[in-house]
Amino acid sequence: MAISLDIAHKPADETANAAAAHIAAPAVTEEKPSLIGLDRDDLARALEAVGVPPKQVRMRVNQLWHWLYIRGISDFDKMSNVSKDLRARLKFAFTIERPELVTEQISVDGTRKWLFRFPSRGAGKPVEVETVYIPEEDRGTLCISSQVGCTLTCTFCHTGTQKLVRNLTAEEILSQLLMAKDRLNDFPDADAPEGGLDTSSNRRRITNIVMMGMGEPLYNFDNVKKALLIASDGDGLSLSKRRITLSTSGVTPGIPKTGEEIGCMLAISLHAVTDELRDVLVPINRKYKIQELLDACRAYPGLSNAKRITFEYVMLKGVNDSLEDAKKMVQLLKGIPAKINLLPFNPWPGSPYECSDWEQIEAFADVVNRAGYASPIRTPRGRDIFAACGQLKSESERLKKAEREALEQAQAAGEA
Ligand code: SAH
Ligand code: SF4
Repeated sequence: MAISLDIAHKPADETANAAAAHIAAPAVTEEKPSLIGLDRDDLARALEAVGVPPKQVRMRVNQLWHWLYIRGISDFDKMSNVSKDLRARLKFAFTIERPELVTEQISVDGTRKWLFRFPSRGAGKPVEVETVYIPEEDRGTLCISSQVGCTLTCTFCHTGTQKLVRNLTAEEILSQLLMAKDRLNDFPDADAPEGGLDTSSNRRRITNIVMMGMGEPLYNFDNVKKALLIASDGDGLSLSKRRITLSTSGVTPGIPKTGEEIGCMLAISLHAVTDELRDVLVPINRKYKIQELLDACRAYPGLSNAKRITFEYVMLKGVNDSLEDAKKMVQLLKGIPAKINLLPFNPWPGSPYECSDWEQIEAFADVVNRAGYASPIRTPRGRDIFAACGQLKSESERLKKAEREALEQAQAAGEA
């Protein structure tokens, strides 16, 4: 049975209304800008804004970086090598608080799903975001969201049924990683969290991250880039770019930039091998056709047998799962160092498709394997807590809908 934990709201910071005269800090704590998600240059500017002398700025940036991303602290008072006075000035102007943890669910297979709530901090509405952790034998993968909802409407994807609420900020993207590390006790010196994992093993819990949660990361490129460059910074969170994968539905103009400016691994949600079918399943295909997409993949910097592009292919019964489709895929991908992930379709309430039969998925995989491609069939993880690929959708959205329906029913009953 999956377990679910409701976590009480954190109390508001009492220093809320304190604001130093010379700093343009908003009056409400929640609206204070966060230092999380700033690159080193932005952090330097933030330090200058609170009066750190230019000569000290670099050293202070390094100190803060260490506290935020190696030690994982979320309280200025723990920065023991930063003077009390500077800590107070930083606290007046900025925050390093984590988002609120609304729920934590744990699947029978160990997958964890969190719902985080972020205040607006001037970025638009406050938002709720889902993040998923998938433990495996030799790795732990965190699946991070880049947007709340999605502007694209892939017909097999639950997130695609939720309109875009807004892009996540770099802080909100990176904080998903920091929160997950907190909950998994994955910062070296931190205390074990209530309800978190035990401390008996020194193993690193998050070894990989995938931008495969809610949203299309290439429609929020700048924020995703900032967050991923911080996650891979060797003096901080230190995740190798080989272990960071960005998945796109095919926003072709963003692909070269991803390679050049982020340098992470790339995954493409292919799902169909003809434009006719892909136009329906992945409607962005109407704008960027398969050939154009694959040309951008061929030109992705640094490709080799050790650095391959992953092509994701959701198995939809009677729609895209014939052996002809498998053969066509092999032809299409010729010359691209590629891995093919076959994703059994994860159903969601009202979804218009069925998952292909297991024998069909295996026969499909055989064709692809015989052509020399690794083509693992991804075991769906966390289905019981709606954490599997394509099942994410803000809990808040679901609740609001349920509340709305209850209200409508009550009104209808009242009018009758
Ligand atoms: N928007 C990006 C990132 C999301 S990644 C993208 O589309 O690539 C999530 C992966 O899960 C994508 O490959 C997506 O196509 C796939 N997916 C979506 N809905 C699914 C479902 N119901 N079952 C299985 N996989 C699904
Ligand atoms: Fe958006 Fe990706 Fe879902 Fe398509 S598959 S609707 S791009 S999240």
